[in-house]
Amino acid sequence: MQQGIVIHAPHDLRIQELETGALQPQQLKVKVKAGGICGSDLHYYHHGGFGVVRIKEPMVLGHEVSGQIAEVGSDISDIQPGARIAISPSRPCGACKYCQEGKQNHCLDMRFYGSAMRMPHVQGAFRQEIVIERAQAHVVADHVSDGEAAMAEPLSVALHAVRRAGPLVGKRVLVTGCGPIGALVVIAARRAGALEVVATDVAKMPLETAVKVGADRAVNMAETPDALKEYAADKGHFDVLFEVSGNERALVGALEALRPQAIIVQVGLGGDINFPANLLVGKELDWRGAFRFHEEFAMAVELMNKKLVDVKPLITATYPFEKSVEAFEIAGDRAKMMKVQISFA
Ligand SMILES: [Zn+2]
Ligand SMILES: [Zn+2]
Repeated sequence: MQQGIVIHAPHDLRIQELETGALQPQQLKVKVKAGGICGSDLHYYHHGGFGVVRIKEPMVLGHEVSGQIAEVGSDISDIQPGARIAISPSRPCGACKYCQEGKQNHCLDMRFYGSAMRMPHVQGAFRQEIVIERAQAHVVADHVSDGEAAMAEPLSVALHAVRRAGPLVGKRVLVTGCGPIGALVVIAARRAGALEVVATDVAKMPLETAVKVGADRAVNMAETPDALKEYAADKGHFDVLFEVSGNERALVGALEALRPQAIIVQVGLGGDINFPANLLVGKELDWRGAFRFHEEFAMAVELMNKKLVDVKPLITATYPFEKSVEAFEIAGDRAKMMKVQISFA
């Protein structure tokens, strides 16, 4: 027996016993090492879900995890017990029409860890031990810590968002919302060749982190709400906006700073947003979504293995497994926390 972190209802998070499940020939048994608390985990914790998605049965949370292989299935010979890995929480079916087209993030039969989108819910990875498919395991280099390895998932989300924008070489980029995903978008945009990266937020901690990881400038919109006005001259300044806050004011407030034919990548999920269609038309803006990732997971791990990105500045706190509820409570405090992780071993 082992234990995991199970959400039963809003603010009813329990550490409880779980079955590990039998190891199939093509699977791996993994000791979970680190797990990062994500915005979606927090939505389940505080509100029991988001949008139309609601918890209808107890569910293990968590999808940003790293681990160490404890046992390999009898058919597997290319990876050994002891290997340290980042675990992709994404399990597309491989057979549906979108998987066949290489759009696995749109899989019709996706089983993404810790998601109440389908019934029965897909159980998550905040547990001491987990059985995974071989394809979910991505070996990390010795210098990549367990905590960094657990950042591969949010980094994948950022890489996918950046790829949705198209080539960034020589582009001027604005990032609205600099929590963990926003800061990772800053990192990914820099890596992709952006000439200028400006980040906005309403809290100090995210803004400081954005500068630490490579933003040229971080603007506090709570203190200087008109700060983007200076970029509005001559129909705007930025070629690309990554909107990571999910906040209507952040999005609409940034539009005047965008050049004609600018690309807006919507990464943040909020409620409904009123988008001024006159600006969309008049400036020929291109507003597109970015949802999850697929092949970017392997890229994220390789970027960390080769020391081409450094995600360490994003990890603000690590709580032992026994203090998981405390970790969930503090993780929502944007003034103090970027990524909060739980240490399982
Ligand atoms: Zn996440
Ligand atoms: Zn599929």
